[in-house]
Amino acid sequence: MMNDVLHSTQVVIEQALRRLGYGDDMIELLKEPIRLLTVRIPVRMDDGTTKVFTGYRSQHNDAVGPTKGGVRFHPAVTEKEVKALSIWMSLKCGIADLPYGGGKGGVICDPRKMSFRELERLSRGYVRAVSQIVGPTKDIPAPDVMTNSQIMAWMLDEYSRIREFDSPGFITGKPIVLGGSKGRETATARGVVIMIHEALRLKGIPLEGARIVIQGFGNAGSYLAKFLHESGAAVIGISDVNGALYNKEGLDIPHLLDRRDSFGNVTNLFPKTITNEELLELPCDVLVPAAIENQITEANAARIGASIIVEAANGPTTLEATRIVTERGILLVPDVLASAGGVIVSYFEWVQNNQGYYWDESEIDNKLKLMMIRGFENVYEIHQTRKVDMRLAAYMSGVRKMAEAVRFRGWV
Ligand code: GLU
Repeated sequence: MMNDVLHSTQVVIEQALRRLGYGDDMIELLKEPIRLLTVRIPVRMDDGTTKVFTGYRSQHNDAVGPTKGGVRFHPAVTEKEVKALSIWMSLKCGIADLPYGGGKGGVICDPRKMSFRELERLSRGYVRAVSQIVGPTKDIPAPDVMTNSQIMAWMLDEYSRIREFDSPGFITGKPIVLGGSKGRETATARGVVIMIHEALRLKGIPLEGARIVIQGFGNAGSYLAKFLHESGAAVIGISDVNGALYNKEGLDIPHLLDRRDSFGNVTNLFPKTITNEELLELPCDVLVPAAIENQITEANAARIGASIIVEAANGPTTLEATRIVTERGILLVPDVLASAGGVIVSYFEWVQNNQGYYWDESEIDNKLKLMMIRGFENVYEIHQTRKVDMRLAAYMSGVRKMAEAVRFRGWV
């Protein structure tokens, strides 16, 4: 139970709603998704056999507007995880003040072991399986762990075929030529950089020369390393599923980016200097977990060597670890705030699709920056004035609008 992401999300949702003055009825409604669809997807494999995959789509709540959130392809996907992820999407949208509720999808599979064509058939099969409950005004998917713009393109194409009209606003994170937005690919990392700036400013540490450790070298982690390196910070540690690299003077990030494969593997090409566990405990200014859940736990929280933790991954720190690092005076910028850049630019993509007019990259970057900073200021203010930790403050900021919308609609 302890590291069960759904359970811990529900605990904090309940605390947040109570602090906001809501009662049992609201908690009962918002602690679980309103809809969860489980699907079985038969896929013809390249060797002629058929494999049946299990997938999910969870919709947390649509009182604010259509639900929104990515689809992950990963062997460890579970129903509980997808449910928790959909609740987190609600919180991100609430913090950023987007007109959406949260949604999330997942398929239990290992894309690293599938061919391009098998992945195409799986992506199309997923859309056929969930097509009844998704759509540009219902529930809008996007990329997540191990899904990318190519997969979004196949999903869009399948949806348009089923509906028999072009519908770019059905999905975000698309290739630019199919109605994708400039800046979407790098959005999560850009958002995290903005959060690092804000946190460093509060701690009085300059970005130039700041020592940063990044766990994970996927979409978020690799772009983040690039941007931080370009702004003069020293990225002293990075890791992927195979291990970690460390250099206290700063790693050669351009070289690592050059050697990285499309799934974010790179450390296998170099003599490893430290383990993934040691990486998390390195003395540094900012630690960015940008991989998967439950990485900072009560087992290592007392030994974390960073002054700031900025969560680029979803759910990397357990509740007990949140308590320990907060007590130790570490400034924690929680996932539902720090990683909101992706869904914010997804929202811009959907707006551009709806209006049929496209913005340039500087417009996207400026708007993203304003929204992220406003989100940070709101959460930080709740943290200070209500004397709650940064995670609870983020949940309070994130769930408030949804609870008000539920009230106005008369659902509770
Ligand atoms: N999968 C991303 C997330 O967890 C982005 C979701 C979106 O763009 O809708 O925030």
